Amino acid sequence: MGLVVQKFGGTSVANVEKIKNVAQKAIREKEAGNDVIVVLSAMAGETNRLIDLAQSAAENPDEREYDSLISTGEQVTISLLSIVLNAMGYRARSFLGFQVKILTDKAYKKARISMIDTDVIAHELKKGSIVVVAGFQGVDEENNITTLGRGGSDTSAVALAAALNAERCDIFTDVDGVYTTDPNICSRARRLDRVSYDEMLEMAMTGAKVLQPRSVEMAKKYDVPVYVKSTFSDEGGTLVTKEDAEMEREVLSGVTYDRDQAKITVVHIPDKPGIAATLFTPLSERNISVDMIIQNVSLQGYTDLTFTVSKKDMKEAQKIVEATAREIGAKKVEVDDDVAKVSVIGVGMISHPGVAAKMFKTLADEGINIQMISTSEIKISCVIQRKYTELAVMVLHDAFHLERKS
Ligand code: ASP
Ligand code: MG
Repeated sequence: MGLVVQKFGGTSVANVEKIKNVAQKAIREKEAGNDVIVVLSAMAGETNRLIDLAQSAAENPDEREYDSLISTGEQVTISLLSIVLNAMGYRARSFLGFQVKILTDKAYKKARISMIDTDVIAHELKKGSIVVVAGFQGVDEENNITTLGRGGSDTSAVALAAALNAERCDIFTDVDGVYTTDPNICSRARRLDRVSYDEMLEMAMTGAKVLQPRSVEMAKKYDVPVYVKSTFSDEGGTLVTKEDAEMEREVLSGVTYDRDQAKITVVHIPDKPGIAATLFTPLSERNISVDMIIQNVSLQGYTDLTFTVSKKDMKEAQKIVEATAREIGAKKVEVDDDVAKVSVIGVGMISHPGVAAKMFKTLADEGINIQMISTSEIKISCVIQRKYTELAVMVLHDAFHLERKS
């Protein structure tokens, strides 16, 4: 008898009918002799609706109240599931983040979990309850409600699995696993049976929406096996786990894309020590993540610097960077959100040279211009014009034969 954490996303709890289906999944696990913790998202579309409400109430909603508002969607689904389970004769108890005590830092909208008090849950499990926990939320040291960033209930689930030493964490969603690329764009996309934490992390960070990147980071750190499965079918599934010998045989595991990118260029900056720090410090103080960065070689003491941020941060980043640019005597700031990032990912890249060259050649053959490049040991990303996103994904998927069965 072990402990299993099951997480269901918004489409899996979109209405009471679907919540009844979720109840069946939890019961099945319980009847198999396991302790069960269920982590839920809000009903599909609900968090967006709440965000729109906040934005219609004020241009810059107070952050504390914003988190308090957008975390309410999960209260609806967890209590509904518990109502359903109790009515079916199973003891179930729902808990909000503060009731468990999922302690986070104070960074509203993107809080990080610092500690989970396991007492309340352990106590309920001992009584035989199915424990149902609200994803996406926590509480800071001063008892303010915080949220963990969009898609954050994945992270709630993995964090609970780690804290309570669960056997595994099942992430139920509307797709039956992790694919080599988005099947909506490329019909030849193939489901992966297994993928390593590192590859999954790169995929999640470069646009694969199936898991929140932080949940993968956490799974890796605490060695939690994560299964991505379909809520609506028992077939398939992808295991996210430690790398093994078999995985390394394939050069690539996937092609991803991210249209949530905006490019900011600071033109003609006097090239001296401290410039990059001066530019990026105020951004980090506002919690704006910078993704790719390129700095050109300096010409006659001046340089250009280009970087990308998430689209939602573009306006604020632009304002901040324009102020800094004036301060440091740069000529101007240009922004461009007509861009996308395509990436190829695979541990096999470490032992197979030539992946970058092949990627660049494949894009060039289609007349796609590469505006920026960044790499890690197991990933190469290119920023391109947005309208070429689908084409780039398809030709890269074909060029690296990702449709092939291993
Ligand atoms: N409901 C939250 C969101 O839509 C959290 C989640 O679904 O993981 O982002
Ligand atoms: Mg999700």
